[in-house]
Amino acid sequence: MRTCGATYDAESEAAGNGPEEVYLTPEELPGFCAGALAGAGWGGDSLPTFEFDVPDDDELAGWHEGATGVIHMHPRLLSRWHVLHELAHWLRPLDGHGAQYTGTMVGLVRAVMGERTARGLLEDYRVRGLPVDEGWT
Ligand SMILES: [Zn+2]
Repeated sequence: MRTCGATYDAESEAAGNGPEEVYLTPEELPGFCAGALAGAGWGGDSLPTFEFDVPDDDELAGWHEGATGVIHMHPRLLSRWHVLHELAHWLRPLDGHGAQYTGTMVGLVRAVMGERTARGLLEDYRVRGLPVDEGWT
């Protein structure tokens, strides 16, 4: 699906232009997610369930299971960008990589990495023609 590749490209470009990548440990995820959710105005009391069961040879670092809300991740590929990507899916489980997803992701990135990186991501989505719901705040 075209928007998948374009979404990953936009986020990887924004990540390259943002602060140095930080990898989290499984133990750090609850605190990281609570801070990101609270900072982006989502409350932060309710947190996703993570399962660290993505194998080494999988092409994905993680995925969100719509039916259960569980986020599956590789235990050593917990970059902040990957975690925020899955967190945005968890918040917008019916949207795929649509406008609600992208708007939510921009808000999460702003909460964690600041305004400059969030604006860069917004621009990287827009130049690829990806829709962004600006009511994310
Ligand atoms: Zn995705």
